[in-house]
Amino acid sequence: MNVQPNSMEARDKAYHLHSYTNARALEKDGALVMDRGEGIYVYDTNGKQYIEGMAGLWSVGVGFGENRLVEAAAKQMAKLPYYHTFTARAHGPSIELAEKLIQMAPVPMSKAYFTNSGSEANDTAVKMVWYRSNALGKPEKKKIISRIKGYHGVTVASASLTGLPNNHRSFDLPIAGVFHTSCPHYRAFKLEGEDEAAFVARCVKELEDLIIKEGPETVAAFIGEPVMGAGGVIVPPAGYWDAIQKILKKYDILLIADEVICGFGRTGNMFGTTTYEMQPDIMTLSKQISSSYQPISALLINENVYQPLADESAKIGTFGHGVTAAGHPVASAVALENIAIIEERDLVGNVKALAPKFQGRIKALESHPLVIEGRGVGLIGAIELKPRDGFAAGQLGSKLFSIMVEKGLISRAIGDSLAFCPPMIITEAQVDTIFDTVEASLDVLQKQLSA
Ligand code: PMP
Repeated sequence: MNVQPNSMEARDKAYHLHSYTNARALEKDGALVMDRGEGIYVYDTNGKQYIEGMAGLWSVGVGFGENRLVEAAAKQMAKLPYYHTFTARAHGPSIELAEKLIQMAPVPMSKAYFTNSGSEANDTAVKMVWYRSNALGKPEKKKIISRIKGYHGVTVASASLTGLPNNHRSFDLPIAGVFHTSCPHYRAFKLEGEDEAAFVARCVKELEDLIIKEGPETVAAFIGEPVMGAGGVIVPPAGYWDAIQKILKKYDILLIADEVICGFGRTGNMFGTTTYEMQPDIMTLSKQISSSYQPISALLINENVYQPLADESAKIGTFGHGVTAAGHPVASAVALENIAIIEERDLVGNVKALAPKFQGRIKALESHPLVIEGRGVGLIGAIELKPRDGFAAGQLGSKLFSIMVEKGLISRAIGDSLAFCPPMIITEAQVDTIFDTVEASLDVLQKQLSA
């Protein structure tokens, strides 16, 4: 990148430490600085247009430049820019949003609780589970099981739940009491000759073995994304969630559905919980709840969780948890308007309608000599590149990512998988443009490799 002194790029290098970035590489190469967005497109400070094939971080469902959200924020900002929900206080937007979320919930839920990020929501879920076990007089029932390659965030508890090495390495994580069971990625982890049903049975047996080894009376909850996102877009095989849930029921273990990516339409239903017929006790929501125009997240908890929690708070005198900006009125107002847009424009219907085309184009890329697998559901998917001699894991993925950026398409490289999760307002023609660009980029990479 040709960086001018005093440019945004230069100032960014000088002052800004980035998330999920190699800080030394950034000192040298700088960042891609975005300036504005419109629909499925974003524009950098040089005016170059990109398709945001990842909807930012799997999150800008209604697309960029949605004026209704700007107006909702401005209106609330002028009326009551801030208030909190501690010590029995409330305000209109938080009440309306809580009511709306409980009404929308795909399984019976009792209360909504607000936080600001997916990580905070999942940390809160862990604390609620611990608090509940104490309330029930089962102080030994505290262990939480998550999955290898699951992604649940980066704060101390949620990073522990996350099953990816980069979130643990050098951070001294995971914390005690968090365990990771197998990842349901059939193609990657199946044994030779093992069909999908046998693979599912083995995943479930591994979970049950872990529960028995740890002692069922010590295991409180299992957390999982309906479809794994940041671990590489891993779609569970048929029957997986059903079989997992039978084991959880058998040992009285709560299910936490991390709907941070799947929630609000991504898989072709309003919630991934519906797509995979899950019966969670807790759901964590964020990202598309506000299309990320404002930071906000929420937990929905059922009676099974709420009742003991309420008892314990009465015993202690308070539920000693909460963050300053939780249920922020501006963020809540934006979330409400965003959900109204998703419903009015039937964006879930759009996801459903475009899914065959989107998934068909991904699957078709399996015939490309560089691609080992195309996978996904709804409007979320990934292609994975074949491993190749002389290239470390992730190297080819990062090369392909750069070629696509050059061509004006932003995806996300997860090792050698490239993920796609565009705004849900996307059109059929735009889906074709994305995958025409992916195809052309794969051909460029192929040429580079054979040169
Ligand atoms: N859960 C899932 C499934 C996620 O994808 C993410 C973010 N990518 C999180 C939790 C954490 O959310 P946040 O980055 O807002 O803390």
